[in-house]
Amino acid sequence: MKFGIDAGGTLIKIVKEENNERSYMKYLSTEIEKVAAMLESYPEASVALTGGKATYLQSLIPQEAFQSIEFDATFKGIQTFLQQHDHPLENYIFANVGTGTSIHYVDGEQQVRAGGTGAGGGMIQGLGYLLTGESDYSRLTALAAQGDRDEIDLKVKHIYKGDKTPIPGELTAANFGRVLHTKDTVTYTDADKLAAAIGVVGETVTTVSIHAAREFNAEYVVYIGSSFLDNELLEKVVMNYTVLRGFKPYFIENGEYSGALGTLKLM
Ligand code: ADP
Repeated sequence: MKFGIDAGGTLIKIVKEENNERSYMKYLSTEIEKVAAMLESYPEASVALTGGKATYLQSLIPQEAFQSIEFDATFKGIQTFLQQHDHPLENYIFANVGTGTSIHYVDGEQQVRAGGTGAGGGMIQGLGYLLTGESDYSRLTALAAQGDRDEIDLKVKHIYKGDKTPIPGELTAANFGRVLHTKDTVTYTDADKLAAAIGVVGETVTTVSIHAAREFNAEYVVYIGSSFLDNELLEKVVMNYTVLRGFKPYFIENGEYSGALGTLKLM
């Protein structure tokens, strides 16, 4: 039995392989002792770790684990998923939208880090809490799904008011930039505020990603990370914004397990 574990800032992602069967599990990073206890019950298992809390997890478990660098593990996992999903790509950007966002360029056989942004899943949770007082992830994303950010965000077309726009009118000119124009006639619900928070995160992640795609001449941007879990709105924002900006988005099923799967495959 083999375990690949990506111990990240918010979530611990685990891939278990046994007799060619693969299963996926995740825990909150605050539950790292539970993960250690689970591993203790499989003393004969091979364990591969990656992620920021890998060394700490190693100190809690009996197995002498293999460790790999997170970026290499994630790349290996993505390559494995792409092959298995029959969607081989040569040159592409991948954006790992985790607690924060890390962006990489893949040139055939290797990845180089192309940038990043502090906008990501952690910002959705933190800003979402500041705006609404909601700290439960499922409730936060369910509420956001019902929101409407049309009266909160300023689009290019709002500035040009019917005039011909030099760039697509649907592009956001200023996230939250419409509030002072609409505040006297509109009541913003918690759902609207959360939708706008997810909007700014999704558009920032996409903007940074497509700048990298342009710099490296890549057509596809592959998006992974747990931030897309239970958050169709984020996926929609990122997908539509990538297309609007002229690139091809690709979301990998179970992509949030890329680091965990990759470190297992590198072992
Ligand atoms: P990391 O490796 O930094 O932990 P992940 O790819 O696991 O990053 O993504 C973390 C993000 O996933 C969180 O910031 C949050 O937006 C989102 N998320 C998805 N499911 C949950 C959950 N059950 N609890 C908390 N956050 C979750």
